Amino acid sequence: MPHRFESESRKLLGRLRAALASDTEGQARLNKVVELIGDSMQTEVCSIYLFRDADTLELCATKGLQEEAVHQTRMRLGEGLVGRTAKNRTVINTADAPAEKGFRYMPETGEERFSSFCGVPIQRLGEVLGVLVVQSKAAREYTPDEVYALEIVAMVIAEMTELGAFVGAGAALSARHQQPVLLRGSIAQEGASEGQVFLHEPRVVVTNPISDDPETEHNRLVGAIDELRQSIDDMLKGARSVDPEQAKVLEAYRMFANSGSWLRRMKADIENGLSAEAAVEKEQSHARARMARSGDAYLRERLHDLDDLSNRLLRILTGQGVDLQADMPDNPILVARNIGPGELLEYGKKIKGIVLEEGSVGSHATIVARAWAIPLVINARGVTREALNGDTILVDGEQGIAHLRPDETVLGAFRDKIAMQTRAQERYASIRDLKAQAKCGSVVSLHMNAGLIADLPSLEGSGAEGVGLFRTELQFLVRNQMPRRSELSALYARVLRAANGKRVAFRTLDIGSDKVLPYMKPNDEPNPAMGWRAIRVGLDKPGVLRMQLQALLRAADGAPLTVMFPFITQLSEFRAARAEMDKAIARETKLGHTLPSALEVGAMLETPSLAFAPEAFFEEVDFLSIGGNDLKQFFFAADRENERVRKRYDTLDVSFLSLIEQVVKRCKATNTHLSFCGEDAGRPVEALCFAALGLRTLSMRPASIGPVKHLLRRVNLDEVKAVMDEAIAKGDQSVRRAVADWLVYQV
Ligand code: PEP
Ligand code: MG
Repeated sequence: MPHRFESESRKLLGRLRAALASDTEGQARLNKVVELIGDSMQTEVCSIYLFRDADTLELCATKGLQEEAVHQTRMRLGEGLVGRTAKNRTVINTADAPAEKGFRYMPETGEERFSSFCGVPIQRLGEVLGVLVVQSKAAREYTPDEVYALEIVAMVIAEMTELGAFVGAGAALSARHQQPVLLRGSIAQEGASEGQVFLHEPRVVVTNPISDDPETEHNRLVGAIDELRQSIDDMLKGARSVDPEQAKVLEAYRMFANSGSWLRRMKADIENGLSAEAAVEKEQSHARARMARSGDAYLRERLHDLDDLSNRLLRILTGQGVDLQADMPDNPILVARNIGPGELLEYGKKIKGIVLEEGSVGSHATIVARAWAIPLVINARGVTREALNGDTILVDGEQGIAHLRPDETVLGAFRDKIAMQTRAQERYASIRDLKAQAKCGSVVSLHMNAGLIADLPSLEGSGAEGVGLFRTELQFLVRNQMPRRSELSALYARVLRAANGKRVAFRTLDIGSDKVLPYMKPNDEPNPAMGWRAIRVGLDKPGVLRMQLQALLRAADGAPLTVMFPFITQLSEFRAARAEMDKAIARETKLGHTLPSALEVGAMLETPSLAFAPEAFFEEVDFLSIGGNDLKQFFFAADRENERVRKRYDTLDVSFLSLIEQVVKRCKATNTHLSFCGEDAGRPVEALCFAALGLRTLSMRPASIGPVKHLLRRVNLDEVKAVMDEAIAKGDQSVRRAVADWLVYQV
């Protein structure tokens, strides 16, 4: 980079800082900025366009175009050269703008007189806030140095916009993060809650993007990088002895932290007038924009590493966001890109609502949120960008939306909604001690799913007859080391005591897929949902399974015990697992320990294969429980965590129901007790259809018991079955519509 331009760009930033620090505000400040840039770059035009809403850019300040056009000229994202710069997040630099693809003539700006055009996206961390444009009459392309200087300035403008430096300069410039925002996502857990934003990964705010002391900034950057390397080395030391796989990942990571070109670019940014943190952010923005464009999985992965390293570096430089749980507000609404079940369990039930950018209905984090009845909205694009810690936010789990910084009207309506829900809960509470008896006389036994001691009070509160599925892995996920047998046994004993004689079906450890224990060697499997998981791990490495079975037998302490094995796909697997139980019993007998007074050993039916298993399988299991979440994923070959494919298939699809019906029939023929414990059991219409097919035990999250019972008590299951049969005879793909239409006249 030629020396002349380096100092020019620094000088420009210095003047910009002076302008921003002066008394001028809003529009006047913005006008000053375009004037300064135009003068420094000796171009006739300099303009700033900012987003008015997600799709519209507005001319907010100009030097050189007609002044009347300010706040009048607008364009859609992708429209004209300005719109294209924003959409593609790349610089457009042309000597002949009118000849350029997408050029749009805007008479109100008088722009036809200008031949050359250079548009630079104003972006912060990959999010485009607007476009900075310079234009001149002379037909020339701007030099790479000039473009670079514009990028540096655009970066500073982005930071200042973020900080509200231009508030008051028209609608488009009202401070970001102050206006109400409606975020549309999808429903993952119903319920409504009001609270304050609590960011899982707090946003780092850079308050000093410009610096005129490159040496100091350079030293700060180098110091921070040393600290970053040191922390990676420490992690590596720890990982090498216990986990060579993780060490490999960290080594790649360390290599990246030493990347010469990354450092060189940041140093050049500092030379050109940016502070150390602004330089990190500038390169991070570039990386994010490239990440969004790149179709190459390997490159995306590396860019992801770079993004993560940049975040760490920013935290070191600014000292922000180090203690994640420190500033939790009173009614925290967790906002995150995504979250794993372990992390959510660590936060615990104090979270009042969750809004995720990504997430999925089938994930275990969602299951935890559902078990705790925490309203959850997923796929809420933009939430981590828009929300700031402490902002008021309303989570509407019924509609899959969230209101960020709502105005009074929205807040009032929302509070009414919460009050209505409370009344519905009261209604459910009034039928808590009644049976789920349909009008035809059939009684459906409703149980609850659980996984933590903290879930058990719901056994009383919900009116559940027992725990139909106790997911033991949640206890393993919340720890950072493998629990000991004595701890497990004490814990299961507490569960049984809390159940107070009601049946608890303990499911042995179901790890793998999205449930990864932090202290177990990660498996680099291309397809973990169909990989080495659940009982497959239990049988191949029986140490943990044996410890768990022993802990369960001891916890029962002479009372009845129910155990089921997850993800059994064939008879031989059940036999092998059952043999482990027999061995555990023999061992306990030998040690003189009391055995359970009654023992039921069952299996979960989670793959279609079991529906076609030999008769002996149905005869040998003491009971079967359909794990609909996994069963559906394998039946339709649709990843339960992938929203795009998951939603295509309906549980009430005739083919899926026919599989369930077949299982019901085989269980009836062999006198095998059958239940359904996937999430669908807690959806009233689904529950109704399962009951109509003959299922008499359903296990669901506690909050669903009221609504399911309420509906079951109002219908005649024979009539439901007739409606389903009629839809099937008619050739419907799903019976949902027919049943839902029929229900309108019943309840
Ligand atoms: C299921 O697959 O339906 C089930 C209950 O197990 P999990 O959701 O824990 O995989
Ligand atoms: Mg499962």
